[in-house]
Amino acid sequence: MSSGDASTAGAGYGDGTRAVRAGLPEPVKHEPTLPGPVFAAHYHLPGEPTGPYAYGRDENPTWSRLERAISELEAPGEDGVETLTFASGMAAISAVLFSQLRAGDTVVLPADGYQALPLVREQLTAYGIEVRTAPTAGDAQLGVLDGARLLWIETPSNPGLDVCDVRRLVEAAHAQGTLVAVDNTLATPLGQRPLELGADFSVASGTKMLTGHGDLLLGYVASRNAGLMTSVRRWRKIVGAIPGPMEAWLAHRSLATLHLRADRQTANALAVAEALRGRPEVTGLRYPGLPDDPSHKVAAQQMRRFGCVVSFVLPTRARAERFLDALRLVDDATSFGGVRSTAERRGRWGGDAVPEGFIRLSVGAEDPEDLVTDVLRALEESAH
Ligand SMILES: *Cc1c(COP(=O)(O)O)cnc(C)c1O
Repeated sequence: MSSGDASTAGAGYGDGTRAVRAGLPEPVKHEPTLPGPVFAAHYHLPGEPTGPYAYGRDENPTWSRLERAISELEAPGEDGVETLTFASGMAAISAVLFSQLRAGDTVVLPADGYQALPLVREQLTAYGIEVRTAPTAGDAQLGVLDGARLLWIETPSNPGLDVCDVRRLVEAAHAQGTLVAVDNTLATPLGQRPLELGADFSVASGTKMLTGHGDLLLGYVASRNAGLMTSVRRWRKIVGAIPGPMEAWLAHRSLATLHLRADRQTANALAVAEALRGRPEVTGLRYPGLPDDPSHKVAAQQMRRFGCVVSFVLPTRARAERFLDALRLVDDATSFGGVRSTAERRGRWGGDAVPEGFIRLSVGAEDPEDLVTDVLRALEESAH
């Protein structure tokens, strides 16, 4: 344990113990357990401008505590891991891509990743960076890796829920000097630890299950490579895509229940997936936690929880819309990972290559019997 740190950085603790204590400062009499958000554009700084807290775009004590907490969850028991938080997941993703890539470099992205990646691809291409894509399933990115500077992995992929073998991809990438970043949004650090699987960066949106209440946007980048993080930090300073102290504090507060939410939502997702499996109108059902899912074998090797997202296809767009209307406990909304279940017809956005009746269902922390009943009732009602 480093000085001034009352948290449970040690690898010997379980996920729950670590989650409730991650990033907490050493107890100080009459001070709160988790000190409140520090609202500061600048700090008192007489004389020589020595760090750490000089100006609010560069550093904030509320971020520092949250960043330490995320490091403890992403790489328990490791001292040298650094995390930087950002205003959103996209700010974190852009920080890695645009700080590491130069004109003339090649980057490999997933063909089936987060829906803003095609926009990122346009921007990278405009800056003279070659972008190659391949699907997540079957480790297909291996086929286009040759000579790339950076490999970007998203596993499980969103919204298709394919999984790739992170260790295998990292080994091939590192053998030719290619850096590897993993988008860990869907899994959260309690579901998967990319740095332990060999990745150079674990990057995520904290907007989803990490914070889990659907009330803030946040992103982060974690790495054990200090040199790489210097350039990511420099990028954050230049672009200024920093989290607000209130959001950072709410996120830290939310981490204390991450293990409870993740366990409950994962168990609920399995219950809902199992209920959907027997239904004749449901095709293309995907959940990495289902033993017969195409992703299950690799997921079981590298994941510790399979997440809360279930996807499936209903016969038509109209049927899918009636199903969503009929749900009472599941809100029709985008995003995922919150304690309240949400679902949407993904095709309404365009962009994702999915059938018109494709539903992405994010399973919340409700009682499983209530959820399963609601989903089955909505399926029945949507038949006509
Ligand atoms: C939501 C999401 C992002 C972007 O995060 P924001 O916080 O919305 O910017 C990136 N990757 C994945 C997998 C996501 O689901």
